[in-house]
Amino acid sequence: MSSLIRDRILTIRSSLPDSVRLIAVTKQASAEIIRCAYAVGIRDFGESRIQEAASKQAQLQDLSDITWHFIGHLQSNKAKKAIEQFQWLHSVDNLKLAQRLNQLAQQLKISPQVCLQVKILPDPNKLGWSAPQLLADLPALDQCKNLQIQGLMTIPPFGSSNLENITVFNHTRELAKEIQEQNWSNIQMQQLSMGMSGDYKLAVQAGATMVRLGTILFGERSAEIDAKSRE
Ligand SMILES: *Cc1c(COP(=O)(O)O)cnc(C)c1O
Repeated sequence: MSSLIRDRILTIRSSLPDSVRLIAVTKQASAEIIRCAYAVGIRDFGESRIQEAASKQAQLQDLSDITWHFIGHLQSNKAKKAIEQFQWLHSVDNLKLAQRLNQLAQQLKISPQVCLQVKILPDPNKLGWSAPQLLADLPALDQCKNLQIQGLMTIPPFGSSNLENITVFNHTRELAKEIQEQNWSNIQMQQLSMGMSGDYKLAVQAGATMVRLGTILFGERSAEIDAKSRE
């Protein structure tokens, strides 16, 4: 079991350009599995549920150089826990949430790293800014001085074709470039968090700087729990 995972991680890691950060998505994977991945050099781990992550983080406190990435839908009432437990939030998907996180970060005297989640194609199952809405919200986001806004995150609609995926990734990169060129004082657009097990190669070709990989490293998850985490 663990040697299989080790081999998969090493193979995928060596297939990625050095500049691309591999985030191992460990939802439904045990703390033991996380230790295996850590042992072969993974330091970035992604989780999509606060509660599930908390119990693993408690078991892994000795691995103090792990960076935890929150990648799930973040409800406002869990915002405080999220910034206490995670150094990166990839799924900040609306202005109100960003402002709430900013306020909490100020109280806690921390400055979490943030990606803004954008929705390039219509998708009833996903949240996220449309491109025009994000552009309109930039002045308010620029005021969120306690957040380190680093880039954009996107997930193509479930079941998209390769061509649609490429379109989504390219538009996301172009949008980030457009925002970067506006020279906001508090908004950086160097990071593109895009690419999952089924589409990460296309995402890397389109300029992804962070890929979020679960299934391809750790195997299939149970469908029931996965569907819940998508709610
Ligand atoms: C589960 C999840 C992933 C990993 O998906 P795989 O297809 O298993 O690689 C990546 N990003 C987000 C936001 C997820 O929820």
